[in-house]
Amino acid sequence: MQKLTVRDADVSGKRVLLRVDFNVPIEDGKVKDDSRIRAAIPTIRHLLQQNASIILMSHLGRPNGKVVESARLRPVAERLSGLLRIRVPVTGDALGIGTSDAIGRLKPGQMLMLENLRFHAAEAANDPEFAKTLAAYGNVYVNDAFGAAHRAHASTVGVPSIVPGYAGLLMEREIVNLSKLLESPARPFAAVIGGAKVSTKLAVLESLMTKVDTFLIGGGMANTFLVARGMTVGKSLLEKDRVEEAGRVLAAAEKAGVEFLLPTDVVVAKEVTRGAEHKIVPAHKIPNSWSVVDIGPQTRESFEAALEPARTVFWNGPLGVFEVPTFGDGTRQMARYLARRAGAGTSVVAGGGDSVAAIEELRLGPDFTHISTGGGASLEYLEGKELPGIAVLLDRPAPPPKAPRKRAPARKEPAVR
Ligand code: ADP
Ligand code: MG
Repeated sequence: MQKLTVRDADVSGKRVLLRVDFNVPIEDGKVKDDSRIRAAIPTIRHLLQQNASIILMSHLGRPNGKVVESARLRPVAERLSGLLRIRVPVTGDALGIGTSDAIGRLKPGQMLMLENLRFHAAEAANDPEFAKTLAAYGNVYVNDAFGAAHRAHASTVGVPSIVPGYAGLLMEREIVNLSKLLESPARPFAAVIGGAKVSTKLAVLESLMTKVDTFLIGGGMANTFLVARGMTVGKSLLEKDRVEEAGRVLAAAEKAGVEFLLPTDVVVAKEVTRGAEHKIVPAHKIPNSWSVVDIGPQTRESFEAALEPARTVFWNGPLGVFEVPTFGDGTRQMARYLARRAGAGTSVVAGGGDSVAAIEELRLGPDFTHISTGGGASLEYLEGKELPGIAVLLDRPAPPPKAPRKRAPARKEPAVR
């Protein structure tokens, strides 16, 4: 990897500012899903084993620059403490004399957590004074918050502009797995793209167009493509103002020789709610007052058949309204199928908040080659964008130049006019 990682840093006896993504769901003051906390543990353990002390920095929710009691990090620190069996105190505020004193008392092997950074508007504004104060807490910066790497905030960009910044082990895993999709995927490479809106997926479709052999499209976004192919979609979610762009994507795929599969049958429902009347219809016969809520059984089969030769698969976006269990067959079958394929040696990477939630619900996460912890960040990465929180980290120095070989003296070329 081009970036230096925490393994390259000398952290012994140092105070390490560790940016983590502990933006986890909290219900009744308890952490409901701790997968993001668990994901940071390898980096934390590594730092503690190296005799560093750790200052954890995270955001939680969107308190928008105000103290919001329900967005305090205490439940998160408690869960982390339980997992590590180490005390993890939380400061009352990210700033203030009490906080700097507590940091001053930290000993190697100890850690503390700064209170939710987004209680200060200065965090999201990447305020230089705020960044300077945070930076002064430590001597080394490590970023393990891939999910926040697409944001240029004080804790993701401001601090590592001052203190030398390294990628954490989770950040490294994300970069290695996602960059492989863009740079050297084993072929054939297929991308399964679903989700609600095509407008949020056009950039990734365009970016992957030059990389993949096959696109398989489901979810609400498929409707706009069906319309671009001349079909009607009844009351379904449709972005009318994107039909033309969808048509251009279809044409580009054809020109590039990329197979572009849309659902051939769909589940339609009278209402997009639990218990609503629903049935299976061909994609070219969607009735007027019904909505598409899932891919149909024939599509599930043909998608699997198309994925059979793939050696790399990327999946983003559920194939139906999976939150309603009756409309989740397409998504669940895809999750099970891809988990099986990953087990059989195909490289299968999934990214996206909702698609990952669907995979985790089935407890299939560990079966996948890689599950990205970044929703928006993983999409932006695959769109080919430079993520500010990664760009700012230290680059691996170029290897020393080899001893110069004797070269024949340069010949003077006659000027050509
Ligand atoms: P991800 O978070 O995995 O990137 P998105 O946020 O793009 O995925 O999309 C997830 C949402 O798409 C889900 O809430 C799901 O209900 C919705 N969705 C999927 N299929 C349809 C459909 N046919 N009609 C409306 N919404 C859909
Ligand atoms: Mg989502």
